[in-house]
Amino acid sequence: MYIGLDIGGSAVKGVLADGNGRLLGFAEINTPGKIKEFEQDIIKLVDSLTVMASIGKDGIKCIGIGAAGSIDRKRGVIIKSANIRFLDGYRIVKKIEKSTGIKTVLENDATAAAMGVWWVEGGSRYSEWILMTLGTGIGGGLFIGNSIYTGSSGNSMEIGHMTIDYNGKKCNCGSSGCLERYASATAIVESAESLIGEYPSSSIIKRTMNEKLSSRIIYEEAMNKDRLALRVFNEASTCLGYGVANLINIFNPEAIFFGGGLSGAREIMMPVVKKTVKKRIMPGMGTSTKYIVIRNFKTTPALGAAKIAMDSVSNP
Ligand SMILES: [Zn+2]
Repeated sequence: MYIGLDIGGSAVKGVLADGNGRLLGFAEINTPGKIKEFEQDIIKLVDSLTVMASIGKDGIKCIGIGAAGSIDRKRGVIIKSANIRFLDGYRIVKKIEKSTGIKTVLENDATAAAMGVWWVEGGSRYSEWILMTLGTGIGGGLFIGNSIYTGSSGNSMEIGHMTIDYNGKKCNCGSSGCLERYASATAIVESAESLIGEYPSSSIIKRTMNEKLSSRIIYEEAMNKDRLALRVFNEASTCLGYGVANLINIFNPEAIFFGGGLSGAREIMMPVVKKTVKKRIMPGMGTSTKYIVIRNFKTTPALGAAKIAMDSVSNP
């Protein structure tokens, strides 16, 4: 059996899986705010997964980690994490191996998610395809000729940081005008906050009297036809469309899979994305590209990390 961990900006998800991708256990924690708590909580999460299997740690062959940001796979180090800053330079593989005694491997979180889509969400039915993860930030994965493409150091497809506005908003990555500054869940909340003054009768104002503003609230109010929420989603979806059009022009994929919290807003986002894409791609491109929203994005990336763990044991 294998453990997969998906370390994201807001949550850490863990799964226990067998060699066929069967989900045997799931646990989730909020991403801790400090390194010390982070270390303790990750170990607790691994322990709780082994308890679930009632097999003890010897039954776990390998732990796979998908971590947000750029990583050094060989050294097992998180080089730069745009959304969890205290992990910059963190030797995560060494730490986990030392505390658990289980072999551990590290991958970029979006690569792990793409492996999960290939394993349990039907990605293996296509040869050329892209995954876009729409959450706190925007990540991506790419399959070419039914094999994952990860770049020379394992950090390709940082599609959230493609420039869509050369004079645009500053980004945590150090650049500006990045796609995720306009079309991620974080960007949607920021955009609603900055425009709320223009919409004194918006239902969002009432919703946020006792509740913190979230992309979920904005989505729900957009479904209720609130004008502010619709404007925010329309702008974000248009920007997402620029990103998708760039990807289609470059890769000419058979399918694009969408995952992450924001992909649940498909009814309002996808029509605008498709309309924008149509205007911006080369003639003859993208006409047969399929848009697929992943069914269970809660566990898919962690399952992909477990698959990477399994592959590292069978083809070390
Ligand atoms: Zn950026």
